[in-house]
Amino acid sequence: MNNEFHKHIVDAVDQNRERIAETLQQLIRFESIVMADPNKAGPGERKCQEYLEDRLRRTGFKTDLWEPDADALLEKYRGKPGAQLGRNFKGRPNLAGVLPGSGNGRSILLTGHIDVVPAGERSHWRHEPFAGICEGEIIHGRGAVDMKGGVASMLVAAEILRELNVPLAGDIVFATVVDEEIGGMGTLALADRGYRADAGILTEPTGNRLSPLCHGILWGKIVIDGIGGHAELKPRHWNAGGPVDAIKLMRFVLDGIDVLNERWHTDPKKNHPLMELSNQIIVTQVRGGEHPSSMAGRGEIIIDVQYLPSEKDTDGVGGAVKREVEAHITTLAKVDPWLSKHPPRVEWILDADCAEVKSDHPIINTFAEACTSAGHPFQLWGMGAHTDMGIPTDLAKTPTVNFGPGDPSQAHQPNEQVSIDDLVTCSKVIALTIANWCQ
Ligand SMILES: [Zn+2]
Repeated sequence: MNNEFHKHIVDAVDQNRERIAETLQQLIRFESIVMADPNKAGPGERKCQEYLEDRLRRTGFKTDLWEPDADALLEKYRGKPGAQLGRNFKGRPNLAGVLPGSGNGRSILLTGHIDVVPAGERSHWRHEPFAGICEGEIIHGRGAVDMKGGVASMLVAAEILRELNVPLAGDIVFATVVDEEIGGMGTLALADRGYRADAGILTEPTGNRLSPLCHGILWGKIVIDGIGGHAELKPRHWNAGGPVDAIKLMRFVLDGIDVLNERWHTDPKKNHPLMELSNQIIVTQVRGGEHPSSMAGRGEIIIDVQYLPSEKDTDGVGGAVKREVEAHITTLAKVDPWLSKHPPRVEWILDADCAEVKSDHPIINTFAEACTSAGHPFQLWGMGAHTDMGIPTDLAKTPTVNFGPGDPSQAHQPNEQVSIDDLVTCSKVIALTIANWCQ
């Protein structure tokens, strides 16, 4: 495809600036909040998907809107990425659409999630979180960054290619899922239904940098048992029925976690050249104690542990890293007479997988060229959080990279916002990537 054609695409996206912005505003207005209890979900997810389905149909996509069977998926994929307990897709459909190419070309998957996390405290927001307000060059609202901005950008990119009659030999597969913000079962359902392509783009926010990998994430709960007792009185030894202060034990375990963190900092296995930070064990919640005048009888430490694609076990998840953390806690417990007899228990709450598309995969170079044609600096970057890229990459054999508009650190925050410039740049790069890839 020649330079003149590239310019044609870039100009068309510029002319459609309003349409991209309005699409995002419209998407924000669907309150597609993911619920921990899926039975309490409102109609926002379904309405958002129906809106997108309508847009796809008008563009010539053959669409598929379906409610996945969570029980059947769990049965089939237990222990694998995205297989979450207790999910339910009733009234919460996934959407896929295929725009067939003329044949014998490489296909592309454009994918994202339309569920969002709750807005949180209303008074922390300057604008109504679901009003889709545009102020100057900035669009505000829950999901502006994570990740309806990315969905709007990729949708309009596909629409424009169609309107310009850009010749594509390969198919465009467009898919938006629900349930990402609670574990990724929507993406699992998409892969299970057979949707795949020769490469994939997941438009999670990366500040329009190309992230060919993400972190895997584990959530764990460390439960520490002491023995409650009166806080003010001289304690007996625990052998004689005295108390053991669980808060002090927690301090000891917390310090021990810091030691492991420190070691990971310089451990090559725990670092990746594209990642800004080493893998970490972050203590995100602590709970302990029962009464102001009682020594704590129990403590709980909640941790967020990150792992790299190179650390995945044979199921494609973080089992080996779980064992590593457990072994460290067991070793710590050995030096304390109480803990060695009553070792802390580690219970795992969540394991969100990861993946990496190697730097020599041709989709990376196609992106680099598209960035040049769009006048946007090509930058590789490692997404420190989890995205659903692992499921299409590994299960659906669709090497999938993250590339999307907006500052990722705004995700889940009040006053989430994205600039229209960011959206337009993303649409340009994606349209040019598709035009060159699907040949
Ligand atoms: Zn997201």
